[in-house]
Amino acid sequence: MLSDMANRVDGQPMFKLLQEAQALERSGKSIIHFELGDPDFETPENIGNEAIKAIKNGHTHYAPSRGIHEFHLAIQKTTLKSRSFKPNLNQILVTPGGNPVIFLAIACSANLGDEVIIPDPGFPTYFSAINACGARAVSAKLYEKNNFELQADDVINLVTERTKLIIINSPSNPTGACMQPEQINLIAEYAIKNNIYLLSDEIYARLILGDEKFYSPGHIDECKENIIILNGFSKAFAMTGWRLGVAIGPEKIIEKMNLMLNTIVSCVPPFIQYAGIEALDGDQTAILNMRDKYQERRDIFVKGLNSIKGISCNMPRGAMYAFLSIKDTKLTSDEFAHKCLYDAGVALLPGTSFGIYGEGYARVTFANSVANIHEGIKRLQAIFGSK
Ligand code: PMP
Repeated sequence: MLSDMANRVDGQPMFKLLQEAQALERSGKSIIHFELGDPDFETPENIGNEAIKAIKNGHTHYAPSRGIHEFHLAIQKTTLKSRSFKPNLNQILVTPGGNPVIFLAIACSANLGDEVIIPDPGFPTYFSAINACGARAVSAKLYEKNNFELQADDVINLVTERTKLIIINSPSNPTGACMQPEQINLIAEYAIKNNIYLLSDEIYARLILGDEKFYSPGHIDECKENIIILNGFSKAFAMTGWRLGVAIGPEKIIEKMNLMLNTIVSCVPPFIQYAGIEALDGDQTAILNMRDKYQERRDIFVKGLNSIKGISCNMPRGAMYAFLSIKDTKLTSDEFAHKCLYDAGVALLPGTSFGIYGEGYARVTFANSVANIHEGIKRLQAIFGSK
């Protein structure tokens, strides 16, 4: 007999779709992949070289479960530079990717039946982790008319005495929206006043596509009372396979997240953390280049999507996704994704992978080449027609 927790867990739907697309590929069908937010760029060479050097220097043993001291110092310095406050070393936890921070923050803040408010459409791990922990996901709806920017009122109106955690994500997966700093401030101040944890998922912080500045609520309480920052190396540094992330938060909860993490994985491999130091402190040319490429691809993709009959798409301001309205195709999100995959050989995700309010939408990632984006648009035009 499986436990209740095992029965509640449902994982990330994008991996299911990837499997389906790959099975079609094996049967000989050509597929353009727009489903998984995995950069097509290689990890910058200077970062890889640091890991190799660290392995050669013997950093291949257990490390402190919170993370190695040198990496903590680099994170502290980067946080001061990018977010205007310097966390204590005890506020920092190094994790194997950003995902564990989500699970650990929920597991350490919410009891069975407690509520966690999340943006909807939102990143699927939020739903899966909340369910696994036996808490209840409460969807704060994102509206297309607000450019999918989460509004403080829409969050605050959902708070009850069972609300233990609010999650915000800017720039957002799946919409690419960036929240207005005033709205972030309102939510953060409310959370602090009402003693609710606020997890700010900032994994796309370095992927603002334009001249805007990234904004984090972290400086408001310096992550000492209620605010927990999630950051990760997967996206902006093209390090998805390295599994490296970080949490910065109040010492009380970070300590417990650390104990849970060391129960499960002991520590993050030290040579991976040396690569992380290089990502933060080393040459940034390759990283800035990738961001520029994402911006160029976004512009081509959004223009192309808006040329297809039945599809319209707002301009995402960050991350690596476009979230398109497919309402005028008269198909459900699932039917649309299925048609794209089987008829056009284009793999994308139905909006419903991201919550109930994702119906009527679909997500594509521009972590793919300009040539593939052009080819994908051509295939979709062939199926749905051009405007
Ligand atoms: N948060 C968001 C919003 C994401 O999109 C992702 C990855 N898709 C993560 C967290 C987790 O990233 P990882 O575990 O790969 O570092």
